[in-house]
Amino acid sequence: MNLVSKVYETSKLQPEKSAYHFMGKDTSYAEFDQSVSMFATALQGLGVERGDHVAFLLGNTPHFLISLYATMRIGATAIPINPIYSSDEISYILHNSDAKVVIAVDPLLPLVEKAVQGFPAIEQFIICEVSEDVGQRFVALPDTVKSKVKLFSSVIATGRPNIQPVAVEENETAIILYTSGTTGQPKGAMLTHGNLFSNARDVADYLGFSEDDRVVATLPVFHVFALTVVVNAPLLKGATILLVPRFSPGDVFETIKTKQATVFAGVPTMYNFLYQYPAAVKEDFATVRLAISGGASLPVALLHNFENKFDVRVSEGYGLSEASPVTCFNPLDRDRVPGSIGTNIVNVENKVVNELGEEVTVGEVGELIVKGPNVMKGYYKMPEETAATIRDGWLYTGDLARQDEGGYFYIVDRKKDLIIVGGFNVYPREVEEVLFAHPAISEAAVIGVPDPDFGEEVQAFVVLKEDAQVTEEQLKQFCTQKLAKYKVPAVIEFLDELPKNTTGKILRRSLKNQVKI
Ligand code: AMP
Repeated sequence: MNLVSKVYETSKLQPEKSAYHFMGKDTSYAEFDQSVSMFATALQGLGVERGDHVAFLLGNTPHFLISLYATMRIGATAIPINPIYSSDEISYILHNSDAKVVIAVDPLLPLVEKAVQGFPAIEQFIICEVSEDVGQRFVALPDTVKSKVKLFSSVIATGRPNIQPVAVEENETAIILYTSGTTGQPKGAMLTHGNLFSNARDVADYLGFSEDDRVVATLPVFHVFALTVVVNAPLLKGATILLVPRFSPGDVFETIKTKQATVFAGVPTMYNFLYQYPAAVKEDFATVRLAISGGASLPVALLHNFENKFDVRVSEGYGLSEASPVTCFNPLDRDRVPGSIGTNIVNVENKVVNELGEEVTVGEVGELIVKGPNVMKGYYKMPEETAATIRDGWLYTGDLARQDEGGYFYIVDRKKDLIIVGGFNVYPREVEEVLFAHPAISEAAVIGVPDPDFGEEVQAFVVLKEDAQVTEEQLKQFCTQKLAKYKVPAVIEFLDELPKNTTGKILRRSLKNQVKI
């Protein structure tokens, strides 16, 4: 079994059921399946064969769902790319991934125009119409460009409905995900049909997804968190995806209310925005049975504030692109542990090890490693990085963690973000948690900066809540009450906002660059 055949089966068993909702319109599983069949055969008509690579520069619109399931349906490999990456980042991925076809949203037409010349190996560009004037802009393209560019609507019209999916093997690559790039050069994690199916199934079972669920999809769909939790897992269970193209608290609350959403998934930044939205009231989450947080650590103070305000249980999980992504989740049936990422999900093993790869004792900090059917095949065309990351069948996550006696794991920080002050370890997260608990602070990030005496010292960046006032000295005093002296930030800088990537991860590297200037 794989995702494509399961969704095909659902389209026969419950054809009328809504697969997704977008801009006021529901699309049934039968209609979704027809579009997927048409686009899949249209791609074949353009010369896309099993094993070929198709890159997507798409956001949260039906084009993404149709393109993904059509690509997988013919045994080709999908490469989702963040459409708002810089042209350098996009070029790097297009080169590295050996894409044969590119499917892009129409605002990227100028970039596509350049890419037609710059990437002769790309045979076809398909433009998805999301803006009204795309027709005119398309007609105005020079003929040399037009020969390689087609509109999504004209491509899909050439396809055939009712075609059965290709029987793909479990270990064939379904998708290559370029990891978020917060560390070094992006690498393409190759996830197989088996990887994607097992994680979507295990997550859906764990979270109790059913056909009655309506899942808010405002996390960016090109990222692995959204892909498994709000796209593949709901589709596997015949649930309905509520596409919210761009995150805004107003749109999320509106979608929950009008579509009676039952599941919300977001990164901590989203929870922070929802919590602080001035017009938000308790009833805004009234129909939601499950709120999921992941992608970065959810500050404990925020978790409590959010739960109290909206009377909803927030469950934190953990994952990474290389593990399709989920490896740990807080249990829903027992009390979740705030600040923890929970315990092993079914079929997946997590362990904390020392530098030698030996398991450490309970409570000790080490690197989190993971094993299971969800672990990637490797990085595309990077055998050395693959060998360094997967050892003896274990995926080394690069995250520092500890485990408690109950089997719960706690992410302490990224290995590379560890700050060492005069030989003492400081985990940025512990300092950030303290700052976050201060009533004036909306967001906080902590980095290590060079210090001639101690090697490194702690520097914090904070964003204040609207109308809040506090001095650097007062914040330092607040930290002194709660932290050992060497952990108290030597410098606290006030910013209007923190630099983040589209999935809400704070770009500590960019803060470090700021300090160097
Ligand atoms: P990505 O591959 O973009 O999904 O990023 C994966 C990384 O996000 C992990 O290696 C962690 O550093 C971080 N991450 C994901 N979930 C959590 C969480 N619940 N708490 C802390 N860090 C997390």
